[in-house]
Amino acid sequence: MRAAPAPPRLSVPAVFRTSDILPQVEKALAGERLTFEDGVRLFQSEDVNALGWAANAVRERLHGNVAYYLKNRHINYTNICKYDCMFCSFYRKEGQEGAWLWSVDQVLEHVAPYKDKGLSEFHIVGGVHPTLPFSYYTDMLRALKREHPGVAIKAFTAIEIAYLAELTGKSLGDVLKELKAAGLDMVPGGGAEVFADRVRYKVCRDKADADRWFEVHETAHALGIPTNATMLYGHIETVEERVDHILRLRDLQDRTGGLKSYIPLAYHPDFNRLAKLGAPSGLDALRNVAVGRLLLDNVPHIKAYWIMLGVKVAQLALSWGANDIDGTVTWERIYHMAGAETPEGLTEERLREVIREAGREPVERDAFYNVAGSEGARGNPS
Ligand code: SF4
Repeated sequence: MRAAPAPPRLSVPAVFRTSDILPQVEKALAGERLTFEDGVRLFQSEDVNALGWAANAVRERLHGNVAYYLKNRHINYTNICKYDCMFCSFYRKEGQEGAWLWSVDQVLEHVAPYKDKGLSEFHIVGGVHPTLPFSYYTDMLRALKREHPGVAIKAFTAIEIAYLAELTGKSLGDVLKELKAAGLDMVPGGGAEVFADRVRYKVCRDKADADRWFEVHETAHALGIPTNATMLYGHIETVEERVDHILRLRDLQDRTGGLKSYIPLAYHPDFNRLAKLGAPSGLDALRNVAVGRLLLDNVPHIKAYWIMLGVKVAQLALSWGANDIDGTVTWERIYHMAGAETPEGLTEERLREVIREAGREPVERDAFYNVAGSEGARGNPS
């Protein structure tokens, strides 16, 4: 999806007329595509007020005052992983203290209380388990669909899916077809980290590389499976590597149109091997949301993932380019094991309140960004 061809032209307020990013702000307002150099400039500028204003103008042009949320439940079925990414606090090795693996029955037990409670989505990601058979994944999807037929399943990062292809010797297309037949509706955006080879070599050299991440997403899109995309920022990446990452996502979206949302994820420093770097600031979080909104003129939704940003920064992000705050979540381990201080879930009432406090109108969506209860909701539109 590209931005509307002839967006109504807004004028830049006088206070930003002397901004060093005036050319970029004017291009964005005119609906013109920003370049790599523009992206670098936006990240480097100290005029964060102009940046936030421009991102908000584009966000409101696309989505008005609406901010989406959904009722979802996370399922982190195992934290046992054959890899050992330096930024990761979640993984354990088999037999190590704190390692877990749920059987399919245990997965069902964990989500049984949510049956017929109007949940829209299961978000399922885990470590890349070294010995689970492919049938575990398809059995889990089938069992969840059988017990919760109205709940969309967003499952397995590109890294998990690439590993399943390696494990089975099947093509990515065949693996995704089998997962889809078993109940997979959507693929989450994780595992993207930062696409630059330099960064991946230093922080996660053993797992699927950027080309393979794109192959998974492109194959999913060709099969009618929509996906999300992330960037894990705030560790060793440069501004240029951030922009390169975002523009590679924009190129993917030009080719396929299958990305639903972009989610900039802040690196969390507790209990992992990059801890000495510290956490990125709240301002950097807002900057990433804003630049993402301005560069990704073809991705409809920008998510401020409240679990990771904290509720207060997520509220601010709703006026810095984000139009979605994610969901009730209920049980989150990946960022809490890395020091996230947010609660592990919020009630629907509290989520609506959080959005209203930020001056936005809360609208419940399903996994595919249909308004909940509307025609097409709970069905995969793509
Ligand atoms: S980020 Fe994912 S692949 Fe890397 S160690 Fe953690 S769980 Fe494993």
